[in-house]
Amino acid sequence: MKITTDYVVSVEYTLSANTLNQPETLVEQTDIKHPFVFLYGHHGVLPEFELQLKDKAVNDPFDFYIEAENAYGHYENEYHVNLEKQIFQVDGVFDTDRVFVGNRIEMNDANGQPLEGVVTEISASHVKMDFNHPLAGQRLHFVGRVLDVRKATDEELAHGHVHGPHGHHH
Ligand SMILES: [Zn+2]
Repeated sequence: MKITTDYVVSVEYTLSANTLNQPETLVEQTDIKHPFVFLYGHHGVLPEFELQLKDKAVNDPFDFYIEAENAYGHYENEYHVNLEKQIFQVDGVFDTDRVFVGNRIEMNDANGQPLEGVVTEISASHVKMDFNHPLAGQRLHFVGRVLDVRKATDEELAHGHVHGPHGHHH
């Protein structure tokens, strides 16, 4: 069976990433016990990732790169912002449990949509936060193997996601 639209695909891979002229660092590793399982052709994963796996079969290996512009985009300096420290007060006290350098916290944008960012700096009056995707500006490198390919069930197609041990549970 070959990978194409409406099929459920299981893969194991090592994902590394790097920015220009920098060495790769390990981002994520999936394996046979904890595979990455997805419904092909339903916009659940990066389009370029699907394109690279098209027509592959069980046990086929893969080794490919996805440039930043086809992955999580370029790093935007304007998403690295200074916010008033008052925003982070809980009952009039600065929330040190949550707001410390290196911590990822969820905020809301101007439209009330949740937006995750990492705290990069705390000064007397401001908190600097970076709302870029952690992989923004990075080229992705996937090395792995196809573990399983099967036709999706009608229910999975209707829901637009995979059911079963590594999929959704209802
Ligand atoms: Zn479902």
